[in-house]
Amino acid sequence: MSPGSRRRLLVGAALAALAVGGSFRLPLPGRRFDPKPVVSLRLADREGRLLREVLSDEGGRCRWVGLEDVSPAVVWATIAAEDARFPTHGGIDPLSIARAAVQNVRRGRVVSGASTITQQVIRNVYRFPRTWPGKLAEAWLAVRLEHTLSKEDILAQYLNRVPYGNLAFGIEAAARLYFDKPASDLSLAEASILAALPRSPSTLNPFRDPGSVLHRQKSILDRVAALGIFPPADLERARRETVKLGSAEAKFRAPHFSDFVLARLPETLKSRAVEVRTTIDLGLQEKVEALLPNHLRTLADRGLSNGAVLVLDNANGEILALAGSRDFFDSTTDGQVNGVTSLRQPGSTLKPMTYALALEKGFTAATLIDDAPAEFATLQGVFAPENYDERFHGPIRLRSALASSYNVPAVAVLDLLGPDLLYRRLREAGFSSLQKAPGFYGVGLTLGNGEVTLLELVRAYGAFARGGLTVGERFLRSVRAKDGRELPLPEPTPSRRLFSPQVSYLITHILSDRDARVPAFGYLTPLNLPFPAAAKTGTSKDFRDNWTVGYTPRYTVGVWVGNFDGSPMRRVSGITGAGPLFRDVMLQLEAGRPKTPFPEPEGIVKTKICPLSGLRPGPACPSAIEELFLAGTAPEKECGLSHRPGPRRSNVQASLRRPRAVLSVETPLPGDVYKIDPVLRPEFQVLRLQASVSDEAAVEAVEWWVNDRLVGRAKYPYALAWPLRPGIHVVKARATAGTETVESRPVRIRVLS
Ligand SMILES: [Zn+2]
Repeated sequence: MSPGSRRRLLVGAALAALAVGGSFRLPLPGRRFDPKPVVSLRLADREGRLLREVLSDEGGRCRWVGLEDVSPAVVWATIAAEDARFPTHGGIDPLSIARAAVQNVRRGRVVSGASTITQQVIRNVYRFPRTWPGKLAEAWLAVRLEHTLSKEDILAQYLNRVPYGNLAFGIEAAARLYFDKPASDLSLAEASILAALPRSPSTLNPFRDPGSVLHRQKSILDRVAALGIFPPADLERARRETVKLGSAEAKFRAPHFSDFVLARLPETLKSRAVEVRTTIDLGLQEKVEALLPNHLRTLADRGLSNGAVLVLDNANGEILALAGSRDFFDSTTDGQVNGVTSLRQPGSTLKPMTYALALEKGFTAATLIDDAPAEFATLQGVFAPENYDERFHGPIRLRSALASSYNVPAVAVLDLLGPDLLYRRLREAGFSSLQKAPGFYGVGLTLGNGEVTLLELVRAYGAFARGGLTVGERFLRSVRAKDGRELPLPEPTPSRRLFSPQVSYLITHILSDRDARVPAFGYLTPLNLPFPAAAKTGTSKDFRDNWTVGYTPRYTVGVWVGNFDGSPMRRVSGITGAGPLFRDVMLQLEAGRPKTPFPEPEGIVKTKICPLSGLRPGPACPSAIEELFLAGTAPEKECGLSHRPGPRRSNVQASLRRPRAVLSVETPLPGDVYKIDPVLRPEFQVLRLQASVSDEAAVEAVEWWVNDRLVGRAKYPYALAWPLRPGIHVVKARATAGTETVESRPVRIRVLS
């Protein structure tokens, strides 16, 4: 039998089996079931390289096919998988309803779908709630639909409307997405795979988990066999056929970005567009997408599963690269969540805005701010901030306070300015995620107690890079209609002045000052780039989120690492977490380009100051440094400190000149409980002791002490494998930095046998 005559026979058989009378003869309004228009939308990068062809979506794009354009294998595999009595029932299936009812009564709620293909079409068109009344309405309309459309048309409705996962709606879109062929050419093996998908399009993903899909395919083939339509030889061939899936990555380039564009494309453009040229640079995008998982792999032992990167062009706000997660297609790590637009706590990344406001209000980069224990009244009670290194540093200049990211000075400054001022400025900068009243955040806003998105952060940092002017991000270059005409793009968000060029320049100068961050971060940090670049790190409470955001004159880059489920990481700082990835993205962006300094605006003066007092150097000052000031704000007073040797002086100088290395134990964490596994061999029962040192150049090796006994020495990266022993243990790390001995805080752990 030729394929054509077999198809006619099979469709004829289907038709003959249909057409059963019923009692509900009221027809349904036919227009609701009209085929959707046949359009496809091409998303392209800035050079016209294809990102995604949208064959269909819920907005009405669908390649509508009639049953004559669908392989009979699809028809029967679908009937077998979803509704074996479809050819004979009248819209509802009493047998399966009875079975479902028994289950529902047993469990006291609606658990079993038991929907016929007809009911599923109704559900797709009318979207009733999944309640008893909704189910009844669905059944009633299903019976009426059987009197309105033929069985053939109902099946066509089903095949053209249901979701097949990965944003493919309808059989034609699914066939092209998964098998690169039209639905008319699908084999029985392929059809049985597609028939498996509509039931759970979000979990059964052929690209991600072909094993589960093939498992379900086998059971569908058994059901097809039971229908008795195909000769056994056909079924045997289908069981043996090795199906070849198309590649997901090739069809979903820049997947989060494409989703982002599709979600924001105005309806007036979306309904008419055939090609959308976006701003993304596919070459850069693919490099960023490769860097992200590579970096996350090196952080895997710190309980970190995900990350996101955003790159904006400072000149016009164009999005050049956007990676929303480690792997879009990995549902086990919520890969489809977009980390660029998700709400997270920003840690210290809002401090530059706090200090910019302070500079506006008369502070200078040399103003001394006291870093000492202090308490602040908030709506949530008294708040006593601590620094990341768990120490206080005495009076320090604004420059050092920002560059070293100390918490107490930032809170003290905001307390003085009033937190409402920062709140209002952040809202103006586009932080629309800060939805609560300003009093809710209070002074904690500068330490990141609000929730913001990476997009908002990058947008705001971009304003510093542009001398204080905001530019809304852009993602469209051109949109072409079916007739070839270019459609007018939506008006860009008007640019507004957030800070003066001088204040912005001072913040940029501080954030790109590698010496100023040494006290907190040491000399060897990933933020030191071989070209002028400003950067700021942040870590949220309990190490849930870790950020690095920064810019060169050309680009602004934001990196977030963390977990979408909010589970904490283990002692990841901006320097170890997001920092190295930020660095690599920046190196990639600036490779082969001339080093460009940040342009200095008029109205900036350079003056010598005493590093301890921030005033003009006096005769007793042992040294002087240069500092930048807004014209008219340079100190006039001369330093009056005696600079006589004394305990306080040596202390402050030590911390300014030769920073003490801060040593901390990263694993284990205080209170950790370990259990010795009786099955594993003893050599596997070890705990990896891991220390971190703020100034790695100064510390050659770390000594590990457990219960005041030296158990070993470890050079960089300062890790030691320690055999687990039952009991309570106190772990400490100790090291020599120069002439000084530094010791970590003791960490108490329990090991159970
Ligand atoms: Zn002095």
